[in-house]
Amino acid sequence: MLYLALFGPPGAGKGTQAKKIAEKYQLLHLSTGDILRQEIANSSPLGLRAAGIIQRGELLSDEVVMALVENAIETNKEAAGFLLDGFPRTVKQAEMLDTYLRASSERGLNGLLSIEVDKGELTRRMLKRAELEGRADDTEEAIRNRFAEYERKSLPVADHYRKQEKCFTVNGNREVEEVFRTLVDIIEKIR
Ligand code: AMP
Repeated sequence: MLYLALFGPPGAGKGTQAKKIAEKYQLLHLSTGDILRQEIANSSPLGLRAAGIIQRGELLSDEVVMALVENAIETNKEAAGFLLDGFPRTVKQAEMLDTYLRASSERGLNGLLSIEVDKGELTRRMLKRAELEGRADDTEEAIRNRFAEYERKSLPVADHYRKQEKCFTVNGNREVEEVFRTLVDIIEKIR
């Protein structure tokens, strides 16, 4: 069973790369952001609680997102593996994930694939996406908050996996296909 996580700031291209990787390796693409947006669209109790938090660019509680991930893994046991996109986003989430995965597979997470992109390029991409997709959390203030949350709470996740020698960084300033090829090279080595 392959467990990979895609990591990086908002606008790094995680979603785009996740779709390509999941297709190539037949992994279940598990995006916590997508799951939450679906909950909002369904007006579920969780969706109603999540909407404001997401709109402000803040993070949901670690326990809530961990429960979503666990549920998605448990209900897709037939999958060849999982590609986590946008999770873990805090050290607490990483610790909970490690504990959960080690209970079923010795190795735990195979690797955290960290896509690094310059701040200027990120801002440019985020504003373009706001124009194209009109996501509720693509306002200027929400974008600023999401970067702040990333730097304060998410960046330490890369160190968490660096200590386990499981953090692999790629330069995300390049074309989609080039970034994808680099990610594939890494996955070939760690799977
Ligand atoms: P994303 O599509 O991954 O950028 O996620 C959109 C929003 O969903 C984030 O800004 C958070 O509010 C929320 N979210 C997604 N994944 C997580 C997570 N792992 N932990 C906490 N909040 C999350």
